[in-house]
Parts: sequence; structure tokens; C-alpha cells
Amino acid sequence: MKKLKKFFSLALTITLIFGTTSSTVANEPGLPSGQIPLGQTTQTTGEIIVNGMEITAPRPSVTDGVIMLPLRSIAEQLGLELSWDETEKRVNIGPNYALWIGQAKLSLDGGLTTREFGPPPKIIDGRTFVPISIFNHGFARFSATIEGGKIIIDTVADVILPIAHSATIQYGHAGIIKNNNGPLLTYIRFPITHCFADGYTSAWAHELHQHAENEIDTLRESHDSAAGELNINFNSYLVYDRFVGIVQQGFFNSTALAHPMDIIQTFNLDLDQEIFLGNSDILDLSKAEDILLLLRHNILKIWSGTGELVDTNLLDNMDESWLEHIAIGPYGIYIILERGVHLPSYLGSLNIMLPYDELDFALLLGKEVEILPESTGEQAIGQTINPASDVVLESLPTLIMPPMSASRGDVDPSKPMIALTFDDGPSKYTPYILDLLERYGGRATFFVVGNLVEAKRDTVQRTVDLGNEVLGHSWDHRDLTKLSGSEIKTQLLNTNRVIEDITGTPTRFFRPPYGAVNDTLKNVSRELGFGIINWSIDTLDWKNRNADVVYNAVMDNAANRAIVLTHDLHGTTADAMERVIPGLISRGYQLVTVSELLYYSGIAFEAGTVYHSGN
Ligand SMILES: [Zn+2]
Repeated sequence: MKKLKKFFSLALTITLIFGTTSSTVANEPGLPSGQIPLGQTTQTTGEIIVNGMEITAPRPSVTDGVIMLPLRSIAEQLGLELSWDETEKRVNIGPNYALWIGQAKLSLDGGLTTREFGPPPKIIDGRTFVPISIFNHGFARFSATIEGGKIIIDTVADVILPIAHSATIQYGHAGIIKNNNGPLLTYIRFPITHCFADGYTSAWAHELHQHAENEIDTLRESHDSAAGELNINFNSYLVYDRFVGIVQQGFFNSTALAHPMDIIQTFNLDLDQEIFLGNSDILDLSKAEDILLLLRHNILKIWSGTGELVDTNLLDNMDESWLEHIAIGPYGIYIILERGVHLPSYLGSLNIMLPYDELDFALLLGKEVEILPESTGEQAIGQTINPASDVVLESLPTLIMPPMSASRGDVDPSKPMIALTFDDGPSKYTPYILDLLERYGGRATFFVVGNLVEAKRDTVQRTVDLGNEVLGHSWDHRDLTKLSGSEIKTQLLNTNRVIEDITGTPTRFFRPPYGAVNDTLKNVSRELGFGIINWSIDTLDWKNRNADVVYNAVMDNAANRAIVLTHDLHGTTADAMERVIPGLISRGYQLVTVSELLYYSGIAFEAGTVYHSGN
């Protein structure tokens, strides 16, 4: 009888705890109830200071020597919204984080993926308690320390600015690309913001998906069991009712990779001007040194909070490459450091916020930007180029001939020539194709996708150093015939900018994605001074994915002054080039760039014209 009573009492307690939990987490009960005695192992007085304010909260508890903190009281002070998922016994914290009562796991992406984190959160007196370390190792934007017995929790930025109340977290709603079947498990969330940027952000997501699928397809050509996973989430923020920062972050993994590859992409929008902002539109990069000092300070704070060895040597030679991924955030500018690129990979990818007030000295956001007179032509040089749409080359000078770089001494106009072209790169296969061209003494033209260029600057640089031509293939591979005139301009000029930033030479030609051309595209091209390059020989290499078929398609159709279409996106195309390049040369063809082909064919340059060959 005594035992039975104890059982009932226990059952009742359990029911009570969970019963209370669901309502408690969903509905804050308010002030602390009973005192929870601190364990012997702690040296804290139990006072909790959040962003400089002592909060009224239940006292910390101790589990296995680890200080457990009352989540809701702290989250409220940090401005994090909590919600409770009864079915999963899951606490959602802000738009990103989630943890599970009684389970040692934490999710950084809204529950999509989890990682181990202990000790598990637990319910005490109807309140959720989490380990103190979660503020250092779990939530990227906060730090927890114990000073003078007090528990100090800080937003890494230190300061919550007045801008906070005008900021919207998670601007827009989520578009989702999902595939639970097949060799590539896919879950991509991207923002739909109902503004000019939607096409780009959605195209980015779809293109990323396509690239991952291509990668897996290629792998499966040699390994039937090859598989992969693509998992991307986003955060989006509206500040000043005008600027939107978007951070796309996640990973791609495949059976061929040693570990998942981090994927980071930021978009910064100016809704008033309907343009993308580049890094140099947001920050005055002439003050990079001081920005980097501020960044260093914040990195050290996070790093020392992790309990890992801090190697300050790694912070001695910071340069602008640390500022590559930046995004407009609600309280400051996020600087996102990719895992393992600048700092040890055990730190993971770091999202570091530099608060607006501390960054004021270098902040251009919302301030009037002085535009240099067009004639100086200096704006584009030496700047970090991103998808900004302020128009550097409002109009290219009209040319009557292709650029001078075309007149190379080693082309004999009386002999046959052919222009190999490669679309959709730069990719991991591009360097091999460059090797082949270098080895056999040929040149080719690479039509690059603008938003892929920055990450492969070295490849693009080497492409031109070897005498090849780099031209644009749009910013993000959208069908240009579906865009407005101003959208087309943005596509063409931004792509030109990233190329010119590396090559030092403005591009005069481009190839539209799919080769699709309409009158609007021709008119805009004419206005901006671009010629349009299509092709006369299509290898369909993207479809057949077979080196023999590609080789035969070129060799069977090769003709003097032809332009050959291929894609340096596929390993099979690179393989085909092992035989195509020496094969054409041994047949007496000179392998020339598109500009050279047109120049030596005596074709006058005319902006807005579509060229298919030198004939
Ligand atoms: Zn293409």
C-alpha cells in the first residue's frame, strides 16, 4: 500500500511537470517562485546580468557540476522569442534555435538538423533550464561568463541600439525546395520578400540545388551509391524600413566529401532604390583597418568564451578578405566567417555582429553616397565587388572593333580558326581545361556566371593570364528574356563589374543563358555597348555527359570560324577536351578567343548584334 501510494505520487508529479511545462513555456508565468539551492561546486552568487541589467529570474540550478540557467527570463531580456512545440517537447528560440527537454541536442536551424549538446535542458518548477555553455557554444550571438560570482550574459555586440525597435526579424516568408527521395536529400529555405530581389534569391536557391544535383549526378557516373545532402536556411532582417539583409547559410555534403561544405551567401537590398548593395555600399572599406580591429575584438570575445585555446597569431594579419560575407542585421552588420577559412574549423562558421553605433565611423548605410563623376572611371577599381547595382558603366564607349587584346601576333588570319567556348563556370573543372589549353597552345572563351566569380578569383585570374577571354553569362543564370530592361542592365553590368575587377578590362560581349534573346535584350545590349555571342556548334554536353559524344560532336562538325558551345561545369566535358584540343590543332585549326575570331574574320563590332560565328 505504501509503495502504491508512492507510485501514484510519482506519477502525479510527472504529469504535473509536463502539464505545467507546456503552458509555462508557451505562456510566461512571470516572477520566480521558490529558491533553488545552488550546488557546492559553483562559485556563483546566482545573480544574472543580461546585457548589463540584473534580471529577476529563478536562481540557477546545478546539474553534474554544470550551471543551468532559466531560459525564458534571459531570452526575454535578450529579445529572443520562445515558443513551445508540445508534440516534440521542443522549445523554439528565435527564428533559428531549438532545443528539446530532456534531450542532449540543439538545433541551429529551426529544427532541421541537430547536434549534440549537453547536459539536456530540463524543467524545474515549470521552468526551462539550459546549461550555461549554450550561450557560448550554442547560440552564436551571445556570451556567458562568471565575474565576481555573477553570471554575465551579453549579446556579443554589447549594445542593443535604438534601431532595434524598427528592425524586423525574418522579413518575408520562406520559399522551400525540398526533396526527401533520391540521391540528393534537399531542404533549402530562401526568403520571398515580394520585392525586386525575389527573382535573384529564388534563382540563387534553385541554381544551388541544380549545382548540387549536377555534382551528385557526376559522382553517380562512377559510384552507383553516391549520395548527398543539401541543407540551407536563411535569416532576413528589415532595418530602417528600407534595407534588408539576407543570410543564407547551410551545408552541402556528399559521399565524395570528407565533411560537409559550408555554404554562405548574403544579399543586401535597398528597397527604396530597388538595388542590391555591395559591401562597399554598406561599409567604407577605406576604413577597413579599423573595421577589422572591431571584428578582432568581437572574435576574441567569442573565442575566449568557447574555452578553446585562443591563438591570437591568427588575428595578427587580418585583411579585407575577412569582410567578404557581410549582411545588414537588426542591431549591426553581420560579418560571417566561413568555417576553417580564417580561423580554426573547430569554431565553425562564425556570425559576428558589429553593432551600428560602434561601426558608425565606417557605416555608409542610409547615408548619401557621393558618386564620382563618370569621366574619372575610377569607381570600379580596387573595390570589393558584389552585386551592387549602382551603375559604373552607364554606357560603354561605342566600339567599332573588338578590343585591342584581340590582336595577338600568333594568329594567322589566312589559316582556319575555331573558338571553343565554355559556359556556366568558373567551376572545379575549369583549371583542368586551362591546363589543357596551356599545354597544347590554344585559347578559349569562358562565359562565367557573375555570382560564381568572386569565390573563384584565382581561376578567373589565371584564365586571363593565359590569354583566354572571360565574358559574362549573366549574374545568376536567369533567362534574360523574362526580365525588364533595368533588370537586364543590372545583370549585365554587375557581371561586367566582377570580371573587370579581376581582369582590368571591361567586357564587350556576353552570352545570355540558354542563348535566349529578345528585342528588349538586344536594345539594352545596344544601349550599354555589348555584343551578344551565341554559337554555331552545340555539343549538348550538359545532356549527354559523355566525353566520347562531346568529342564527336566537335570533331564531326568542326568548321573554319565556328563557335563551339560547351560547359566547363561537367567533368565529362573536361575529359572530352583532352582529345578535342589536340585533335583540332592537329587538323590545323588555331584555337582563338571569340574576340579574336570576330576580329580576324573582319566583322565589325556592333552593339546589340547576335553573333553565331565568324562567317
Ligand atoms: Zn548557361
